[in-house]
Amino acid sequence: MELDVLAFGAHRDDIELTCGGTMIKLADQGYRTGIVDLTAGEMGTRGSVEERAKEAEQAAKILRVQCRDNLSIPDSNIEINRENKLKVVEAIRRYRPKLVLLPYWEDRQPDHAHTSQLVFEAAFLAGLSKLDTGQPKHRPQRLVYYKCHYEFEPSFVVDVTEQHERKMEAIRAYRSQIYNPNYPGEQTLISSLEYIESIEVKSRYYGGLIGKKHGEPFLLREMLEAQDIMSFVV
Ligand SMILES: [Zn+2]
Repeated sequence: MELDVLAFGAHRDDIELTCGGTMIKLADQGYRTGIVDLTAGEMGTRGSVEERAKEAEQAAKILRVQCRDNLSIPDSNIEINRENKLKVVEAIRRYRPKLVLLPYWEDRQPDHAHTSQLVFEAAFLAGLSKLDTGQPKHRPQRLVYYKCHYEFEPSFVVDVTEQHERKMEAIRAYRSQIYNPNYPGEQTLISSLEYIESIEVKSRYYGGLIGKKHGEPFLLREMLEAQDIMSFVV
C-alpha cells in the first residue's frame, strides 16, 4: 500500500494531539494517510496497553487513515540504535510516503525528541540501495515537523477550522488519557482539564496567525521554493 503521508508518533495519542486536524484535512482532500506509533504506551500512568490499543483504533477511524501500525519499541526508552532505525526504515519502505510528519526535535518528553531523531535518520537511510531490508529503497521527498510541548516559529500553519470538531472527537477517544472525571487513577498533565482547554486555546492562537478560527503549526528544516508567488494570494 502506497501512502501520500505517513505520520510518526512516539505514543498512541501523539498524532491526534499535535496534528490530528491536518491528518483529517489530508483525508478530506483525498490523500492517502497512515500512522506509525513507535511504542504501545506500556509506561503510561493511566490506561493499559489493551485499552490504549482500542482507543487508538477508534481514533484512527475518525482520522480516516488507511493504516495504523505499532513498532513495539519500549515506551520511555526509545533508543536511537540500529535495530530501531531499521524498524522505521522498514515502515517507510512498506508505505512509500511522499511526505513524513514527525515530532519537533526538542521536547520536554524525551521519547518525542528521540522519535524525531530516529525518524529523521531512518528517512535518509531508507533511500540507500545497499541497506538491505528485502524491500525497494524509498526516500520521502519532504519531512515536516509538528509541535509537541516546546514552541517553535512555524514555517506555515494549516487551517483546520472545518476539521477541529472531528479532531477533538479523536482526542476524546483516548478515554483513559484525556480529561475524564469518570476515569479512576492518578492524574497527569494530559488528563487535566487545563490541558484539554489549552488544546482549544492553542488551536485558536495558531488559527489567528493566518486569520482563521483554528490552525496547526508546522516547521521545515529546509527552505521552501516558491514556483508561483501568486499562489499566496489565492
Ligand atoms: Zn507522546
